[in-house]
Amino acid sequence: MPLVSMRQLLDEAAKGGYGVGAFNVNDMEQIQAIMEAAKQTNSPVIIQASRGARQFAQDRYLYHLILAASELYPEIPLAMHLDHGNSFETCKSAIELGFTSVMMDGSLKADGKTPATFEENVAVTKQVVDFAHERGITVEGEIGVLGGVEDGHGAGGSGLEHVTDPDQAVEFAEKTGVDALAIAIGTSHGAYKFSKKPDGSVLKMDILLAIHKRLPKTHLVMHGSSSVPKDLQDIINQYGGKLKETWGVPIEEIQLGIRNGVRKINVDTDNRLAITGAIRKVLWETPEKFDPRDYLKPAREAMQKVVALRMTQFGQAGHAGDYKAVSIAEIARGYKDGSLSTKPLVADK
Ligand SMILES: [Zn+2]
Repeated sequence: MPLVSMRQLLDEAAKGGYGVGAFNVNDMEQIQAIMEAAKQTNSPVIIQASRGARQFAQDRYLYHLILAASELYPEIPLAMHLDHGNSFETCKSAIELGFTSVMMDGSLKADGKTPATFEENVAVTKQVVDFAHERGITVEGEIGVLGGVEDGHGAGGSGLEHVTDPDQAVEFAEKTGVDALAIAIGTSHGAYKFSKKPDGSVLKMDILLAIHKRLPKTHLVMHGSSSVPKDLQDIINQYGGKLKETWGVPIEEIQLGIRNGVRKINVDTDNRLAITGAIRKVLWETPEKFDPRDYLKPAREAMQKVVALRMTQFGQAGHAGDYKAVSIAEIARGYKDGSLSTKPLVADK
């Protein structure tokens, strides 16, 4: 299957009532792990690359690796997404390279650190939407500011400092015409999200429910949604690592989100933990080994296991064959003639 529009993938997820994991990649082994998990569970999938990943790998390598994945797994609907674009230029370069979806994170200024004003966010996001939709490319926007820092991107802090205001979310969706909306509900990027199992005082699921009530058809996105399971932390620490005790977003909270409009769930940290734990184990137990394949293969398998589990938990498993890819040119025509709506349905309070 050719690379598909993320809009098509999320519209189908809404029809089916499930969420789709968006997994970050920096290299070939991670892409292979995701695709094997997708095949194993028969899942549509989103592979995403951040600006940091594009720098680390050179984005042309990433593009061709993901393209290879779409050729090798023709039965899997696969969208290629830019995570946290910081400016119009960054999004434009990803679109010109061949990404089928971009995130314009206008919640921060172009430095990727300083919170932007609402007006600045609307202006830059709208500019990206106009450019992208003309070319059939999906746009995710962000309203409110997530906590933490990942790959040098983020405002830092706990994630509770700029929680999304539901009224602003409605206005933002109306003014920009984004296809998907990332909201801030207390989650943070990275491994250290919560210092205890999160309850309603730190993870604001009530805000997510309020936004879904006002925007019942809008595809919501949960960032910073690794669950940071204890068993993955333990493997790292058992083999010489030094992770401090930490909690992520419980699966049952993500599933509550999926029942309330969440269609895309970003997962990165859990895979990083799985890879690092597997590599540490090999090097610790067999220090005489030096062939990278001796630890990259178990690392890839450990990541595949986590991704397959998330695909099952998010409900996307079993849905790869539900639909055929619509061409990106056809999607562009849909935006133009209005058959692909960019006006959100807004419900009363
Ligand atoms: Zn994010």
